[in-house]
Amino acid sequence: MRVRRVTVVGAGTMGNGIAHVFAQRGWGVTLVDVSRSVLDRALETIKRNLDRQVKKGTLSEADRDAALGRLVPGAALDGVADSTLVVEAIIEEPKAKFELFAELDRRVPPPTVLATNTSSISITEIAARTQHPERVVGMHFMNPVPVMPLVEVVRGLATSDATVQSVVRTVQELGKTPVEVSDYPGFVSNRVLMPMINEAIYCVMEGVATPEAVDTVMKLGMNHPMGPLALADLIGLDVCLAILEVLQRGLGDDKYRPCPLLRKMVAAGRLGRKSGRGFHEYA
Ligand code: NAD
Repeated sequence: MRVRRVTVVGAGTMGNGIAHVFAQRGWGVTLVDVSRSVLDRALETIKRNLDRQVKKGTLSEADRDAALGRLVPGAALDGVADSTLVVEAIIEEPKAKFELFAELDRRVPPPTVLATNTSSISITEIAARTQHPERVVGMHFMNPVPVMPLVEVVRGLATSDATVQSVVRTVQELGKTPVEVSDYPGFVSNRVLMPMINEAIYCVMEGVATPEAVDTVMKLGMNHPMGPLALADLIGLDVCLAILEVLQRGLGDDKYRPCPLLRKMVAAGRLGRKSGRGFHEYA
């Protein structure tokens, strides 16, 4: 059988995890980023995470080495036309995604599927930048990708059944669970999660409880593995703010209005884990 090849564009937090799971499941992977240092870091992260699986006994050394052997880093899209699938995981900026999809559409012949891992940008709008919107689809992996079993498969207005079916099959082959959703702001995951996080921040702003207390209530009382504020710190408070703005604007409903304390935290550079401080402090 021909080895299937995925090109993952963007090697940051999500891109390296996506490349990891495809390589582990036998796909040839080209991992592309505009930054050489991000690419180097991504390859180190993938190796470290595969090593951890070996230590835990969930992966053999031979399979780890084979997975690493299937990974090729790339600084440009030169070989992208040979891909069976392209998964985009670049920065969450509409203009950057629109330009990239227009370029991918020119370089990669149909019916190769062009998938985006966007959390909040409209799949329909991205697809409209291409000549073949039927092959554009959302493939929304969760963070950390090697660990989380869910992938939201997001159907844009023009996405074809064949495209959705092909991505659903791929997700299953990756050992993950696909859930089909329609293209509306926040899909299901962020539309349900972000209002909860926002409300938790209002509780802190209004002095209802400390961040520790809010997180403890949700962990011990609701059986959440992680409190909403610790989760917001993990996602990044700037990312949470951007998603809430998309929900408020896209759905035209002020119930998604970002909490003023969230805005203040972002303005102060307290972005969560990545800056060392958010609602909690990180060494
Ligand atoms: P990130 O900032 O860690 O990585 C983005 C990478 O894209 C950077 O390394 C950057 O150099 C690279 N890049 C930018 N423009 C590029 C281009 N034109 N070509 C190639 N590379 C380019 O971001 P991330 O957290 O990995 O998020 C990536 C995508 O995944 C976003 O759309 C985000 O909304 C989505 N997402 C993120 C999470 C999360 O928890 N972080 C979860 C689900 C989905």
